[in-house]
Amino acid sequence: MSVANQSLVEFINNLLPQTQCQRCGYKACLPYAQSIVFENEAINRCPPGGAPGIKKLAHATGRPVVALDEACGAEGPLKLAAIDAQRCIGCALCLEACPVDAIAGSFKFMHAVIENDCTGCELCLPSCPVDCIHMVLPKTPVPWTDDKASRARGHFEQRERRLQEHASKAGSKLRKQPVDKDALLKAALARAKDRQQPTHSKAEPK
Ligand code: SF4
Ligand code: SF4
Ligand code: SF4
Repeated sequence: MSVANQSLVEFINNLLPQTQCQRCGYKACLPYAQSIVFENEAINRCPPGGAPGIKKLAHATGRPVVALDEACGAEGPLKLAAIDAQRCIGCALCLEACPVDAIAGSFKFMHAVIENDCTGCELCLPSCPVDCIHMVLPKTPVPWTDDKASRARGHFEQRERRLQEHASKAGSKLRKQPVDKDALLKAALARAKDRQQPTHSKAEPK
């Protein structure tokens, strides 16, 4: 990659909202930026960036402003994920799905969303086996600022580095002992069922 192209990719990536939501059809903002530069990909595939984002990309690439590609989704206010604590079974599958480490919790314990870090990407929703994550509109609208984008990008890149380190350190070991997600899920569901059993029965009326 030439220095000029590398700088352009970096420049375009900086214009993207960094929610890492994959609505553009790419795994993250950076590969979309790369595709705009190298594959002549359309500049109207980012719903979180919306019309203002398209204008910025048009300016940066010298291409005409076009309407958002509705097939990628609609522009809208930021919604945040919320976890129903009563229903969470502590399976930790949402931790794996969140691209910016915005969920706190550990295996067997209730999980919670760190609102300040949530990008509203919705990638955690399908990961939850008991559908206890939903998206909510904050009472006061939360503007997606450059600071928030920069913070989200930092968290995403930190996570990517961590995953790469884990993969290279434990790659062969993990290949020999693959995680049995079905077994983990069954165990979590069994624990949740146990939790729902009443521990005290009401005293019988005399
Ligand atoms: S914010 Fe989402 S849709 Fe926009 S470039 Fe990043 S990953 Fe793609
Ligand atoms: S908590 Fe869910 S919606 Fe929020 S950033 Fe993480 S995966 Fe996306
Ligand atoms: S995926 Fe759902 S049930 Fe599992 S820890 Fe996350 S919120 Fe709880």
